[in-house]
Amino acid sequence: MPQHYRAVVCKFFLKGNCLMGDKCAFLHKWDKSKLPICDEFKKFGSCKDGDDCPYKHELENKSECNMFRLGFCVYGDRCRFHHTHFPGPPPDPATIEAAKPKQFRRKGD
Ligand SMILES: [Zn+2]
Ligand SMILES: [Zn+2]
Ligand SMILES: [Zn+2]
Repeated sequence: MPQHYRAVVCKFFLKGNCLMGDKCAFLHKWDKSKLPICDEFKKFGSCKDGDDCPYKHELENKSECNMFRLGFCVYGDRCRFHHTHFPGPPPDPATIEAAKPKQFRRKGD
């Protein structure tokens, strides 16, 4: 049995028309914690359907933002990665600079 067997609610079931019935590998049950993540939200960071959208609007599998981990992220709230606050002294500014995408780096080096 696949590891993710029925770990996520079936998208077709959510729309009310899953043809797989009992054979479906996805969950045919309304379970809020097991809803699939909204494709649109995943792609664009927002979803025009808002609260009407049956899918989850959060990216739980977001990876850690490298830039933010070093203390500063040029994308701020719009960043696609997870911003976790770590305790401790701020990192070396040169390290932060090196983690930025090229176009955001200070010119001259
Ligand atoms: Zn299904
Ligand atoms: Zn959505
Ligand atoms: Zn970031």
